[in-house]
Amino acid sequence: MKKNYLMTPGPTPVPTEVMLATARPMIHHRTADFEAVVSECVSGLKYVFQTENDVLIFASSGTGAMEASIANCFSTGDKVLVCQNGKFGERMAQIAEVYGLDVHVLAYGWQEVVNTQQIADFLAENPDTRGVIVTQSETSSGVLNDVQTVGQIVREYDECVFIVDSVTGIGAVECRTDEWGLDIVMTGSQKGLMLPPGLAAVSVSAKAWAAYERSNLPKFYFDFKKYKKSIVDNTTPFSPAISLMVGLAESLRMMREEGLENIFARHARLAEATRKGCEAIGLELFAPDEGRGNAVTPVWVPEGIDGDQLVNLMKEKHGVTIADGQDDYKGRIFRVGHLGYFSGFDIITTLAALEMSLAELGFDFEPGSGIKAAEAVLMEQ
Ligand SMILES: *Cc1c(COP(=O)(O)O)cnc(C)c1O
Repeated sequence: MKKNYLMTPGPTPVPTEVMLATARPMIHHRTADFEAVVSECVSGLKYVFQTENDVLIFASSGTGAMEASIANCFSTGDKVLVCQNGKFGERMAQIAEVYGLDVHVLAYGWQEVVNTQQIADFLAENPDTRGVIVTQSETSSGVLNDVQTVGQIVREYDECVFIVDSVTGIGAVECRTDEWGLDIVMTGSQKGLMLPPGLAAVSVSAKAWAAYERSNLPKFYFDFKKYKKSIVDNTTPFSPAISLMVGLAESLRMMREEGLENIFARHARLAEATRKGCEAIGLELFAPDEGRGNAVTPVWVPEGIDGDQLVNLMKEKHGVTIADGQDDYKGRIFRVGHLGYFSGFDIITTLAALEMSLAELGFDFEPGSGIKAAEAVLMEQ
């Protein structure tokens, strides 16, 4: 027998209470029973997003919300600025291109944080910009971008909406939608919300609704207005992912019970334990000091070790699934996800499997050093 541990930044482990909720007998979506579910989901998401804005729920993965944010906020040829320091920023630019926007890219390396001054400079030179797009937590690189500062900058431009991909930010790190002036914030169910994949949620500010009114891009399934009209009556325009939403109501209940502050503190502690553990083994962290997020920890594969072999060994022999690097960093880094339903012992288990795998591959280090360092972090509070 092999017991499995899912340590990836999406999908993430699903708590038993949530799994059981998704397994309840099917209900019809045009009923008071389901209206109660929608109502709970919306109010819970507003709590998690820290917003009074409309929150819309789609039956799609997170990319559906990314596409929806473009299709609903812009018109053909609109000038937008996409900040890119990883795979998801690149995807946003691709979507904006597909929709015929005038896409300007601020491109950074995957180990760099988005430079907010360059956004301010761009907008000063291009006051006709209709949108700024930033990935808060870059899942591919572990880098956390400062969307609070960007919010202050974009706020000065009445017709420019600020779109934030917070798919691995929401439920892991602070994301104050209203206070920070984030017009569109999006997440997906299989990350911090502790659900299987298949749901996306988007918050839409008054400024974003004004942009919607100007928008001429084609949209049907992801038309924000359709969802807004339905949500007033606690329903959805099309067949919803009923079971996932029943699960979402449950996971949001759990999140409220823990409280956002405690959730963020837990993620900070787990991330720190992972970082300290890896460093004690003698590994080097990938993300820069000034921009380390708490959702996922990418780590360089040490010299002389095959990254694919390491990830495989951890999974096949020890049952611990971590994520490989993507694109240029495939086989060169590995990523430990710890957003959502994780506790300190998940980190200890992962570090133990990492140590055993590295030892088996001939890496020279003190066995137990990573676990010891992580334990010290976990015992601090
Ligand atoms: C997971 C993720 C998405 C959405 O990806 P899907 O596979 O479509 O759910 C978008 N942005 C970021 C930063 C992500 O981590």
